[in-house]
Amino acid sequence: MMTREELIGMLGAPFSDSETDRELFAEAVRVRNRAVGDQVYLRGLIELSNRCRKNCLYCGIRNGNSAAERYTLTDGQVLAAAEYAWRSGYGSVVIQAGERTDGVFVERIERLVRQIKTLSDGELGITLSLGEQERETYRRWFGAGAHRYLLRIEASSPELYARLHPADHRYEKRLECLGWLKEEGYQVGTGVMIGLPYQSVEDLADDLLFFRNLDIDMCGMGPYIEFPGTPLAEAPCAFARDERLRLALRMIALLRLLMPDINIASTTALHALHPQGRELGIAAGANVMMPNLTPAVVRANYKLYDNKPLQDMDLRGFNVALDSGWGDSRHFSVRTAGAPVSALREK
Ligand code: SF4
Repeated sequence: MMTREELIGMLGAPFSDSETDRELFAEAVRVRNRAVGDQVYLRGLIELSNRCRKNCLYCGIRNGNSAAERYTLTDGQVLAAAEYAWRSGYGSVVIQAGERTDGVFVERIERLVRQIKTLSDGELGITLSLGEQERETYRRWFGAGAHRYLLRIEASSPELYARLHPADHRYEKRLECLGWLKEEGYQVGTGVMIGLPYQSVEDLADDLLFFRNLDIDMCGMGPYIEFPGTPLAEAPCAFARDERLRLALRMIALLRLLMPDINIASTTALHALHPQGRELGIAAGANVMMPNLTPAVVRANYKLYDNKPLQDMDLRGFNVALDSGWGDSRHFSVRTAGAPVSALREK
């Protein structure tokens, strides 16, 4: 098991040292293939709405950004995207949106989850990524059929978290939510941004240890990319963009070595910094990709349906698992072995 010092050493290696990275990534791929196989699971991503009550200092859709053009998909659009995913052979979808906690929203999500389950004969797995909610809300959505939840901590250091968020966004609340999600029976994912202002390689090593201590099932992390006009965008960053990409790949590989049987996403932020960013993530040990199925993309993809929905990714050489169940985290099955069947939901 790697120590904190070893993690810091790997993360802080000179960026000119590409041989060390090559060995690290190759080892991560070997470990992944042994622990969970070499298949890449695809989730159809549905971005339901960019309305958000929060004001995270780095985020382009923060509530205070009056320049953002707001949208919310209709029920029909969400269900059409889910049906497209199902008919195209995706095992699951991710429903993501800015954070809202009002009754209308909570009820709507519950209804949509039930409708997606019905339209897909229970076959589509559903991951939610809808921020901090009341425990009762998580329970209702799980009861409706959602079974995985992504809630990124963004920075596991409370001090760094406080520099990235306004004072009323509480680190402790986020931790509490992660605990509730686990207790309610979800497969739980979290993640961080990599290469943030004020962030050190020591912080990143601690992020990795945080994931292990929290015993997460899934992780989605990617390089930090400034959004112009946000309060954080002007803050100086210790790492250039190409260094953030390298650091993100190192983080993926090291997490794979620390937690061999979890699901790790190769995120679109990698793609934003490199045309083959997501492929590089897979080659560093990730095993999940999330093609975007929001309506405009659905339309574009419809005409490419004939085995071309992956047109913007070069997955040659990867064993892509489109139709292979929900692609659940093996770690979840291991950590919940022996739990009452009613508390679990697996396919
Ligand atoms: S909660 Fe999410 S969507 Fe809302 S401002 Fe923060 S990062 Fe952006």
